[in-house]
Amino acid sequence: MMQEDAIQNAHATLARSLQTMNCRCTPERRAILDAACSMDAPFSIADIAAQMASHGFKVSRATLYNTLRLLVDLRLIVCLRMQNCTRYEAVDPTRTRCRQVCTLCGRTMEVSAPAELDKLPGAKTRRFRPTAYALYVFGMCASCQRRACQDTNINKKHTRSAGTEKEKQGNI
Ligand SMILES: [Zn+2]
Repeated sequence: MMQEDAIQNAHATLARSLQTMNCRCTPERRAILDAACSMDAPFSIADIAAQMASHGFKVSRATLYNTLRLLVDLRLIVCLRMQNCTRYEAVDPTRTRCRQVCTLCGRTMEVSAPAELDKLPGAKTRRFRPTAYALYVFGMCASCQRRACQDTNINKKHTRSAGTEKEKQGNI
């Protein structure tokens, strides 16, 4: 959960940008930003839809998708594209986090950041204005590793039996 002032700043950015674009800052857009900021982990469109429904807010998939895209454009959230899924996460400029992300199922887990990470906000950047810092460690979670291992074993078995089949045919 983000700190209140960080959420207020995000809302101010959204309102300002929508005004510049001559778009209305609708209650739906504000609610989607609120829901994104309240998430403890990177979320899918289904996750945020469920979160909003639990607060009695019904929004269409299209509105959700378009608003998330707008929030990405405004750098208020980041989009993590993985092999099989997409996750979003609110940008929190007040803290540096470290997450491990499974690129197959999208499962994420916050891990303690290496001490070096605290030095990042002071680090020099080149012709670049940093807005937030995060460290994502991409890889494969334990259950996806197990599944991948099982799949390999099944494939091996198939290849082996196919090979024997061929050998048999060759012998005839
Ligand atoms: Zn996984």
